Amino acid sequence: MNAAAPATATQTYDGRALINGERVAALDGQTFDCTSPVDGRLLTAVARCGEADIDAAVRAARAAFESRRWSGMAPAQRKRIMIKFAEAISAHGDELALMETLDMGKPVKYAKGVDVNSAANCIRWYGEAVDKVYDEIAPTGANALALITREAVGVVGVIVPWNYPMIMAAWKIAPALAAGNSVVLKPSEKSPLTALRLAELALAAGIPPGVFNVVPGYGPEAGSPLALHMDVDCIAFTGSTRVGKQIHVMAGQSNLKRAWTELGGKSPNIVFADCPNLDRAVEAAVGSIFFNQGESCNAPSRLFVEASIKDAFLEKALKLVPNYQPGNPLDKSTVMGAIVDQVQLDNVMRYIGLGTSEGAKLLAGGALATPVQGGCYVQPTIFDGVTPEMTIAREEIFGPVLSVLSFTDAAEVVKQANASVYGLQAAVWTSDINKAHGVARALRAGTVHVNSYDEDDITVPFGGFRQSGVGRDKSMHAFDKYTEMKTTWIRIDSPV
Ligand code: NAD
Repeated sequence: MNAAAPATATQTYDGRALINGERVAALDGQTFDCTSPVDGRLLTAVARCGEADIDAAVRAARAAFESRRWSGMAPAQRKRIMIKFAEAISAHGDELALMETLDMGKPVKYAKGVDVNSAANCIRWYGEAVDKVYDEIAPTGANALALITREAVGVVGVIVPWNYPMIMAAWKIAPALAAGNSVVLKPSEKSPLTALRLAELALAAGIPPGVFNVVPGYGPEAGSPLALHMDVDCIAFTGSTRVGKQIHVMAGQSNLKRAWTELGGKSPNIVFADCPNLDRAVEAAVGSIFFNQGESCNAPSRLFVEASIKDAFLEKALKLVPNYQPGNPLDKSTVMGAIVDQVQLDNVMRYIGLGTSEGAKLLAGGALATPVQGGCYVQPTIFDGVTPEMTIAREEIFGPVLSVLSFTDAAEVVKQANASVYGLQAAVWTSDINKAHGVARALRAGTVHVNSYDEDDITVPFGGFRQSGVGRDKSMHAFDKYTEMKTTWIRIDSPV
């Protein structure tokens, strides 16, 4: 897979929904065009599902759940099938990576090395957990037995964004399926292809028809009917805070389904002058904001550098910027690819314009790039002299734009870092163990890194405080979202 043309010239994609184990067109026959941000090529027509299609998928999921062909399967067997599903993802890694790159623009190197591997690992990890989770007996005394058990909630609706399409889906479908639920997944209209292929691979691995359905379409047309459906027991959403709020409203307006949301961020990265390794801090700050074209919910988009080292820090940072110039995402050496579409590219450019007009100093980038004709590319961008009230210090840009602020006092920087509606992730760099613990404890974020930024493992929870969402993905804690807790009292009238 060295260059675009030979590998993709013969590529054809099936954009139909997958409901009850079968590929189907939308019931009204409507489609939408799926085009590539790499070069603007048309990839395929995708089923534009609506309320009737969502209803068909939910009915199939409910029937599968009630039949107990998955929920009632012996845990060891469910485990084997999940692991087979994970192995199929790895075996089709090149195909899935190319599809993801063409669909949403990320470099193929990361689509394979990060997205495919993480999705497969996630499915395998939850698969392996299936027959290792025990329930509880409460210490109630001799005359009764109180069993505390976990049961699948039933039908789980999943709505995901476009930035890590396979990973975001895997974080939800893996624990949901492992717990015995049936799933209806609505991928983003900007990146629907890999979700459909994952469902095919799941089916081939032995996940019974109706257990894992994928219904592509637009948010208001397909996402809302799923969140509002009276026979969906739980809705798990990853996306913007704006839509996440609507998801909670829709859950309340319908059947009070359980609603879990992983939302936006504006994560602070705080570097003190006694940072133990300035080079590593610079690499992490620059690498993490430009990774995935800045389209990461946890990107460290607010960089706070202690005033006494700011010039030295920025000098090193600017030397790294040329490494992140956008290239053809299909080229294996590219580290920064295309922005997902023209709408998002315009959005990023609007924020860059606001940065300049509100008085921040443009240190690098700020302009469009054209590594491939017809694609959506922007230069990696750094603004210095950003102040907390500026728009680029407050709002999530979701693009490769770093806002640099400076500080002189620990209490002051913690206050500024916490002055956000979000609370997804944060970092602190210092050699002082007291400062590290004190600042980490004071930061209002679901994850805090000390002297790193990108540590990551399926074993640890991921999610946010405040308007970054409700609930946690990953780790054994994710099972809590997709199971109901039941207490069963058994009276014991013992003859002995
Ligand atoms: P988005 O909210 O626009 O869309 C997300 C999903 O919701 C898509 O599938 C979309 O079709 C659907 N949707 C849109 N309107 C809807 C509606 N009215 N009803 C139901 N569904 C609807 O977000 P996006 O632009 O796709 O993704 C970017 C956002 O996702 C960013 O804010 C980012 O921070 C967030 N995100 C968060 C995490 C996390 O774990 N916290 C991870 C990745 C992305």
